[in-house]
Amino acid sequence: MENERQFICTACPKGCMLTVTMEGDEVVKIEGYTCRLGKDYAFAETTDPRRMVASTVRVRHGLHPLLPVYTASAVPKPKIRAVLEAIREVELDAPVSMKDVVIENVADTGINVVASRDMPRVGS
Ligand code: SF4
Repeated sequence: MENERQFICTACPKGCMLTVTMEGDEVVKIEGYTCRLGKDYAFAETTDPRRMVASTVRVRHGLHPLLPVYTASAVPKPKIRAVLEAIREVELDAPVSMKDVVIENVADTGINVVASRDMPRVGS
């Protein structure tokens, strides 16, 4: 049985309206895209939707108490909650350098969580 999903392409600011027709789990038709990027986006969004995750972790002896972090690549949507829980459990010791790996293979995704800025140490 066919079903149709409509959503806006966010791969560029033009925002084309995409329509994906599915038969069960299979994509049978993609319409509305005006470039290859949009077609690939529609396919991925329907079959394996992913999102970048950004959050903060606690830091001891840092210039600030929280360090912004992000996933090095987009995470499968069903794993986002587990990724956020793993991030919440981390507490680092300053100093931390930008792009340091904060969590390796977070929630078994094969993706690392990395620091988005330097965090110098202050005090002892
Ligand atoms: S289909 Fe192509 S042109 Fe349209 S919004 Fe997506 S990336 Fe941009």
